[in-house]
Amino acid sequence: MDDIRKAFLEIITDVRTHLEFQRSLGVRSIAVAPPGPESAPVRPAAPAVRPAPASTAELPASLPSSPDGAAVCMPGSLEDIRLDIGDCTRCKLYKGRKSIVFGEGNPKAAVVFVGEGPGAEEDQQGRPFVGAAGQLLTDIIEKGMKIKRPDVYICNIVKCRPPGNRNPEPDEVDACIGFVKRQIAAINPRVIVTLGNVPTQNLLGTKAGITKLRGTWQEYEGIPVMPTFHPSYLLRSPGEKKWVWVDIQLVMKKLGMPVPVKEPGAR
Ligand code: URA
Repeated sequence: MDDIRKAFLEIITDVRTHLEFQRSLGVRSIAVAPPGPESAPVRPAAPAVRPAPASTAELPASLPSSPDGAAVCMPGSLEDIRLDIGDCTRCKLYKGRKSIVFGEGNPKAAVVFVGEGPGAEEDQQGRPFVGAAGQLLTDIIEKGMKIKRPDVYICNIVKCRPPGNRNPEPDEVDACIGFVKRQIAAINPRVIVTLGNVPTQNLLGTKAGITKLRGTWQEYEGIPVMPTFHPSYLLRSPGEKKWVWVDIQLVMKKLGMPVPVKEPGAR
């Protein structure tokens, strides 16, 4: 990343931190001075390497989504977003984690799969969806969609493992969701697939359940979203796999991919 870009990102982070602070004080609007000699920059040149913040709490916990914030307009690259996460302590999940599971895949993927949060195996390996549910997701992608897993992007709403694989709590989601929103903005996929209730409800801002929403096109920031069942649920209820295949076929059609007639694994 070049120095100007780094400096620009640093300024944006500072401005955002300042605005969050003002908002926490109850300020709801600010006056913006017209450009003129008195508003000439007084900031010293940014260092070539961004210094580590004294505390990760200096970084904004969650970035607003557009239109009221810069997170979606200025997501930065995936590398920038990972840098901003740092050695995160924004919520209590850091206490039990081994790894921050950022996400992986093609930074220009046409499809982004969003899960809930890492499980034990993901925490160990630092990679999303590498346990039993991950194997099923890989099969959905590779045997169902007939594309390679590294060609899509896979990430989660929270980046650290909730203890005992419980659902992430609202404060944990609030602390982390800005990052997945920035990942989506950086990738700008043609379709998002949300896996289960947690990503579906939090990205779409709805309380409606996955059973109602699955198989129906939704929208997030102008990007079509297909909610479907979480692979962990499919491991417990294999009879429901047929619905995921229905949903994935809709995704494939949206992407202009040829759709095989038979369910993968069907005889
Ligand atoms: N379940 C999730 O939601 N995400 C993972 O990465 C693994 C299991």
